[in-house]
Amino acid sequence: MVLVEDGAIRLTDFTGAAPPEYATVTDFGPDGWLLPGLIDAHVHLCWDGTKDAVAHVSSDDRETVLETARASATTTLQDGVTTVRDLGDRGYLSLVLREQTPSTEIPEIVAAGPPITTPGGHCHLLGGEAEGADALVAAVRNRAARGCDVVKVMASGGNVTPGSNPLHQQYDRSDLRLIVEEAHRLGLRTAAHAHAVPAVADAVDAGFDTVEHFSFFTPEGIDLRQEVVDEVVQRGTFVSLTVGMAPGTAPVHPGIAARFAAMTEHVAKVIASGARVVPGTDAGATHGKPHGVYPYALIQLAELGMPNRDVLRSATSEAAEAVGRRGRKGVLRPGADADLLVLGSSPIDDMSAIADIRAVYRAGHRVR
Ligand SMILES: [Zn+2]
Repeated sequence: MVLVEDGAIRLTDFTGAAPPEYATVTDFGPDGWLLPGLIDAHVHLCWDGTKDAVAHVSSDDRETVLETARASATTTLQDGVTTVRDLGDRGYLSLVLREQTPSTEIPEIVAAGPPITTPGGHCHLLGGEAEGADALVAAVRNRAARGCDVVKVMASGGNVTPGSNPLHQQYDRSDLRLIVEEAHRLGLRTAAHAHAVPAVADAVDAGFDTVEHFSFFTPEGIDLRQEVVDEVVQRGTFVSLTVGMAPGTAPVHPGIAARFAAMTEHVAKVIASGARVVPGTDAGATHGKPHGVYPYALIQLAELGMPNRDVLRSATSEAAEAVGRRGRKGVLRPGADADLLVLGSSPIDDMSAIADIRAVYRAGHRVR
C-alpha cells in the first residue's frame, strides 16, 4: 500500500495493513506490481528519433522543435518513465517546456540545455560552442544562471554530427577538470559524452558524475581498459550505458553499424565489471531510438546478464542518484514524489513485464 497526498508519498505499508478510512482506494489486485516511476538518464526531447533528427533539431523553427519536445515528453511518460535527464536540447528549449507545462503532464526534466562543445564540434548546431578556459567557465555559469541542473560536455566527437569524429578528443584534461570544478562549485552535476578511449579516461579522471556511452572506441574496434573501470568503481562514477533499440531497427551510422556486435559484447562486459550502471537510451538521437524506447533498454540489460532486480534498481534508485534526485525519485518511501508505475506481472520473473503497464502516476495524478 502506498498512500499518496499532495503529490507525494505519505506512507507505505508492505504488511497488508488496511488503508486509512479517509483514503480513496485503487486496488490493482494480487498480481499487480508497484514500482517507483522509471528514470531515463539520457534523452533528447527536442530530437525526433528519425534518420534526419540532427537536421530537424538544427534547422526547424523554435515552435516546431518545442512541439517535438512536448510530444516526446508525453510519449515517454506513458511508458512509466516519470523522470528524464535531457542531455542536449537546442537553445534551452527543454527548460522552456518544463516551465510552460504542468508537471503532471510530462516527466520531471533534469535539464542540461545545449551541450558544451568545440566550435564546429559534435552537436555544435545546438548552440553550445565554447573553447578556452574563460569561455568554458562562462558557459557553465550561463547554464547555472538559466536553471540547468547538469552540465553536459562533448569530450569526444560523435556519430550523428556531419564532420565530427567519435575517435577525436574535443577537450584536454585541464579543460574537463575546469568544467567539473566550476559546475560543482555552482551546485550543478556533470555529464561527459565520451566515445574514444582517451576521452573516456580523461572524463573519469576529471571527476564527471556520469560518463555517457563509455564506448572505448579505437580505430580498430573497442578496447575496454581495466584501469579505467577500476577508477570508475573506486570513484563511484556512474556509467550511463546507451541501451535500447526499437524492435526491427538497426543502426544507421556506419561507425556504429560496423561496431554493433562488438558494442553489445562491450555492454555486457561493463555490466559485469562492477561499475555503477544506469540506463540511458539516447532516445530521439537517431533512427531506432524513438521516444518510448525505454522498456527495450531494460529488457536488453536483462538479456545482457544484469539480474532483474539489479535492472530495476539501476532504473530507479541508482538512476535517481546519478541524475541528482536521490531520495525524491526512484524510491517508494514517505516524502518521495508520488511517481508510480503499476505492472500486471512480475518484472523480477520476466523483464518483459515492464511493458505490461496497468497504471502510471506522476506527482500523484494518474496519467495512464
Ligand atoms: Zn545523446
